[in-house]
Amino acid sequence: MKDFSHLLSNKTQTIIAQWLEAIRLDKKISSAKNLSRTAIEDHIDYILMAMATVLSQFKENEIKPIVEASLTHGTLRANQGFDAEEIAREYSLLRNVIFEILEPELLKASSQEVLRAVRLIDIVLDEAIARCFQSYTDQRLAELQQLQNHLTLNNQELTRLVLANQDNLSFFAHELKNPLTSIIGYSDLFLRIQKQKTEAKDSYTNLEHIERVLCNGRKLLRLINDLLEISRYDAGQMKLQLEPLDLCEVIYDVYEVLESLTGEKDLQVVIDCDRASKQVVTDSLRLQQIVTNLLSNAIRYTKSGIVKVKCEILDNNKWAIVVSDTGIGISPEDRAQIFEPYFRVGSSQKSYLPDSTGLGLAIVLRLVKLLHGEIDLVSQVGVGSTFTVTFPLQVVPEN
Ligand code: ADP
Repeated sequence: MKDFSHLLSNKTQTIIAQWLEAIRLDKKISSAKNLSRTAIEDHIDYILMAMATVLSQFKENEIKPIVEASLTHGTLRANQGFDAEEIAREYSLLRNVIFEILEPELLKASSQEVLRAVRLIDIVLDEAIARCFQSYTDQRLAELQQLQNHLTLNNQELTRLVLANQDNLSFFAHELKNPLTSIIGYSDLFLRIQKQKTEAKDSYTNLEHIERVLCNGRKLLRLINDLLEISRYDAGQMKLQLEPLDLCEVIYDVYEVLESLTGEKDLQVVIDCDRASKQVVTDSLRLQQIVTNLLSNAIRYTKSGIVKVKCEILDNNKWAIVVSDTGIGISPEDRAQIFEPYFRVGSSQKSYLPDSTGLGLAIVLRLVKLLHGEIDLVSQVGVGSTFTVTFPLQVVPEN
């Protein structure tokens, strides 16, 4: 009876080299891409050695040596970030390489010897895969358990914080605001000085980093401001500053700030103030915030077409501002939730815009209520959205 175990032992290095090459070429094993050769082949020689030992023994159920080697291999792969499909593929490649290398010898053997060798190699490999998956799954489960423990603790801490009281949140946000403003101020200053001083292109890489700091700092500050706005409203601390104002002016002022958002888009922004009132009494700052959030959303969620802002006087002492777009639209299911804080369409697939916070419309809704108005949305996915807000011509302060 031909003993293939010697052959397997002698060819171990050739098998490993060819298998490594096959792994490198397999685009679906992406976790191996950044690993060193040693990290990939770690433990495979033990598996091959164990396989040779099993093949040299005549008892087919003698598979003990393979168990330990494959269990360690599974844990190793879990730590290296492999997923189950990648492990299945690497074993399938190993099977192909082993048979390719043994083929010349197998062809010389009797059919009985070939059958036995093929069967044994298959049994051993199947066992190796099963054990490897077993330890891989155990490792992943342990990580999940750890993650769940962390999350449970975080959740308890958050619930405790939320229950503590609303003021804490506002206080916390205020405390964050000061250092942040200073970070932004200094990074901005640093950037401007560096840009004046530097001619060499290379040093712009450093500037890119600080630009990123600046950009993220601004984002954080906007988020904190939004949070403060909501908590102020929810705590009933918003005071109205009522004054007579020209709506047309407010809208053009807002547009001037937001114009740059249209960027390279094939987008036309139309402002129609022909029938706008020049004498409404309301809070100019809050109104500006409402128009800013609605108009910036209309531009951000529209790739091409028209964004229109129309302002008109209605009957019964009311006026309306209508912001419409030809953008992505909002589905009926999402419409019920978009005014809730932190809700962003596509949150589960993380397909929302990078600068999205999910707070803009929550603030709009609160400010509209504060100005005694009402908001209405009509939208169709792929066609566009129209937000209509109606207000009294004169907001009367509540006692
Ligand atoms: P943000 O835009 O920062 O995510 P918002 O509260 O302003 O937060 O909007 C909530 C969600 O509503 C957005 O994530 C977006 O999916 C959707 N949305 C808002 N305005 C529009 C619009 N004009 N067209 C399409 N979707 C919109």
